Amino acid sequence: MLQGKRGLIFGVANKRSIAWAIAKAASASGAQVALTYQNERLGESVRELAATLPGETPCIECDVTHDVSLDAAFDEVKIRFGSLDFLVHSVAFARKEELSGGYSQTSREGFHFAQDVSTYSFTAVARRGAALMEGRAGAMITLTYIGAERVIPNYNVMGVAKAALEASVRYLAADLGPRGIRVNAISAGPIKTLAAAGIGDFSQILEHHKNKAPLRKNTEAEEVADSALFLLSPLSRGITGEVIHVDGGYSIMGT
Ligand code: NAP
Repeated sequence: MLQGKRGLIFGVANKRSIAWAIAKAASASGAQVALTYQNERLGESVRELAATLPGETPCIECDVTHDVSLDAAFDEVKIRFGSLDFLVHSVAFARKEELSGGYSQTSREGFHFAQDVSTYSFTAVARRGAALMEGRAGAMITLTYIGAERVIPNYNVMGVAKAALEASVRYLAADLGPRGIRVNAISAGPIKTLAAAGIGDFSQILEHHKNKAPLRKNTEAEEVADSALFLLSPLSRGITGEVIHVDGGYSIMGT
């Protein structure tokens, strides 16, 4: 599905990361990918994972909260790849203390931080990515969660950040569409990853999901990755500005 295409993937922390499942699936579909990591603390493990993919997989340091770091990363992508066909944004963070208890206790600083890392970063990478997609029918995706649409206990400030992220998807799709670039989001069901471990009572969220979702199972990163392939490939060439739920149907349920 992605034969001969080149993509940049943000958000591989370890082998459980949704971004890693997407990287493996994209690679198996014929794409060459580059991976970013936030800082050298994670660089070694990301390089080890990258080495398991066929061909050359550039690994590039990028902290999405710093414009200098973003500019340097995209400069390197331009040198290594010349152009881009797709981009995956699978990055989010909020302080642990903001991910439990009442939402009204959210601090100004915690609110800004969650929005900066988890929401603005998509706009920041989309603008730079689009510059490398001119004339190439590029596609971008980001990852969101049903906490953007409904109240999920303890998701708090991240739910508000994801709501803004989903709105960003629509504004970016309208802005970049005339250049032939599509922008979509996947709203994934809960998956046990490093980021998820920060959310209070996450195991209860997983259990509830499994019992209520029409497919009666938890979402797997590989299911998300397969839908990502669809959204990044020409099979979805008529779709932009959408949020597609990959959650076993959980989001359709009323109770
Ligand atoms: P993950 O493996 O922990 O991935 C989150 C990534 O964000 C990590 O690679 C993390 O790097 C990166 N990140 C955080 N701050 C960053 C920064 N300043 N600069 C660059 N990268 C930064 O967890 P995941 O569950 O796969 O999360 C991926 C995406 O899926 C997130 O947007 C998440 O909200 C979304 N999602 C997850 C679920 C779920 O249940 N797991 C459900 C729906 C949506 P560091 O480790 O270095 O901080």
